[in-house]
Amino acid sequence: MSYDYDQVEVPAEGEKITLEEGSDTALEVPDNPIIPIIYGDGVGSDVGPAAQKVLDAAAEATGRGISWMRVYAGESARERYDENLPDDTVEAIKEHRVAIKGPLTTPVGSGFRSLNVGLRKLLDLYANVRPTYHLEGVPSPVSEPEQMDMVTFRENTEDVYAGIEWEQGTDEVEQVKEFVEGEMGFDDVIHDGPVGIGVKPITEFGTKRLVREAIDYALEHDRDSVTLVHKGNIMKFTEGQFRDWGYEVAEEEYGDEVITEDTLWEERDGEAPEDAVVVNDRIADNMLQQLLTRTDQYDVIATMNLNGDYMSDAAGAQIGGLGIAPGGNFGEGRMLAEPVHGSAPKYEGQDKVNPTAMILSGRMMLEYMGWTDAADLVRDAVEETISSGKVTYDLERQLEDAEKLATSEYADEVVSNIEKLS
Ligand code: NAD
Repeated sequence: MSYDYDQVEVPAEGEKITLEEGSDTALEVPDNPIIPIIYGDGVGSDVGPAAQKVLDAAAEATGRGISWMRVYAGESARERYDENLPDDTVEAIKEHRVAIKGPLTTPVGSGFRSLNVGLRKLLDLYANVRPTYHLEGVPSPVSEPEQMDMVTFRENTEDVYAGIEWEQGTDEVEQVKEFVEGEMGFDDVIHDGPVGIGVKPITEFGTKRLVREAIDYALEHDRDSVTLVHKGNIMKFTEGQFRDWGYEVAEEEYGDEVITEDTLWEERDGEAPEDAVVVNDRIADNMLQQLLTRTDQYDVIATMNLNGDYMSDAAGAQIGGLGIAPGGNFGEGRMLAEPVHGSAPKYEGQDKVNPTAMILSGRMMLEYMGWTDAADLVRDAVEETISSGKVTYDLERQLEDAEKLATSEYADEVVSNIEKLS
């Protein structure tokens, strides 16, 4: 039975994406699916429609169509319904399985909790996946950006991001402090005076399903390695345990298809079995410099929430910055695509920023739906547009002889390249 929406208009046409019978994860995708879209805050109202136009063109060029269902969160939801995240929005994404969203503003310090974190938790979208690859023609601060071709799997529901924290000056924070000092014996760690305290849960369940997702991806896409990134030398029982559980998955669940770096050297003199994925680990701070100095050695990354956030932004800078970097949140049989960048409020409504990140997030969504021909077309058309020197302001200022386009003009150019290439 269908959910009864009253904060969302259900499109007159289109069918629901469902699960294949007997499967928890495989999708049954009709040729005219209903796809919920949240434009989001700030520049979301610029990049959202731009991406929609491009995705429509790619669907049409491959003999399909998308029935969009506008759903609301953040500012637009407050204006319409006086709430940040209406139940209908969450239900629509749950029920239709595949959706796309623009950025949502989160106030720093006080105010409401992150709607992004909330959505990921409510929908149990446990893996935030951020591919970082270089598109021809995109300017970069490094000399060989094409060496970067990495996919980061960031755990999305745990870590210090879980929202278990207490504000300074409250009774709760004093109770937690008393417990930590009195019952747990950490009596000389927390300085006297006002304190804010947060908790960092890392579970076996959360770690293993994330690492499995990363290894499965590496095997399916012929990748060579999966690197577990952690700060386990300092945070032994959380980040160190993430590494140990990660290796357990690699050693116990995949047979000969997966080999750890230690076994590779101890037993096989560094010679990996053909098509095997090698699992290794790196400490997070070292990893950030290796991304710059040994870029081509890294392939698929599996890491916790906070490390993953920092690392994928840093990696994104090497391939053209936030205007380019796409992302997607995955759960069991569902996906919510979203660019890595935020709402960049100072550019809101100016038809100025780069919609590529949102467009390429949409490309990930098409791939997840099994529309690989349409997904490839989007990538090729974006690459063609940028290579021909037609770009938005963020890339134009770094290129010689490029033509500066508005967000909407750039999307039109990508659409016209889709039509030419198809
Ligand atoms: P931001 O990504 O919004 O912007 C930082 C800078 O990056 C901008 O000033 C701009 O120079 C550049 N930039 C971002 N997107 C661009 C684009 N599409 N094209 C060209 N340049 C672009 O980061 P911020 O200023 O730290 O955050 C603003 C708000 O966004 C905050 O409220 C934050 O919480 C939120 N945020 C949301 C998400 C999300 O919804 N997933 C992610 C990150 C930040």
